Amino acid sequence: MYYLFMSTMDNKCFKVSMDRNPTLYVNVFPGHFTTGNIHSNYFIDVSELKFNTYVAKNVAQELARPYLTSVVVDTIVCVEASEVIGVYLAEELIQYGAGVINPGGNIYIVTPHKDVNGNFIFPDNMKNWINQKSVILLATTISSGTTAKRAMECIDYYGGKLAGISSLFLTSQDVMDTKVNALFTSADIPGYKVFSANECEMCKSGQPLDAIINSEGYTKLR
Ligand SMILES: [Zn+2]
Repeated sequence: MYYLFMSTMDNKCFKVSMDRNPTLYVNVFPGHFTTGNIHSNYFIDVSELKFNTYVAKNVAQELARPYLTSVVVDTIVCVEASEVIGVYLAEELIQYGAGVINPGGNIYIVTPHKDVNGNFIFPDNMKNWINQKSVILLATTISSGTTAKRAMECIDYYGGKLAGISSLFLTSQDVMDTKVNALFTSADIPGYKVFSANECEMCKSGQPLDAIINSEGYTKLR
């Protein structure tokens, strides 16, 4: 389902809704964007999904589906500012209901920090919530997979057992060796293209960059 409309960025963008739950959508901005590692012709804005609490609660219901009746969860490791969704996801997973596997359970929500080399680390007081625990990794946008893989390495380093990876958006399952439970993928976004930074069609044709993308959103360059 797609709509064209004017956005707060004063650029045209379109909205892509989930077929199963049309209240959940991403705004797609055409342009020339970079994360540093990759360039893309669209910026997929997942801000509403992760920062609007009403929407985030709905998001969590969808994200809980793969785990609700089959996966014991001790800890949710949040990266890319996904803590709001993480809390609602935990609420979903510990609800009482038919077949629910974690009813009334305790689930910890933790966010690793980055060291000077960009590796994720946990302080000592959080290690016990990872070591030998069943852990869900919660990301918001997996594009090149670099952040998600570093988070997976971190969970492994601290002895966690990865029970699943969830993300709001995933460019392609090909960038990850482990299955990602994603709400949206590039297959949902017609015309979406990503390039490695040195093979970008738009750079080669002289099209200037519009914005830098990071886990918090975008920063316009012009
Ligand atoms: Zn480019």
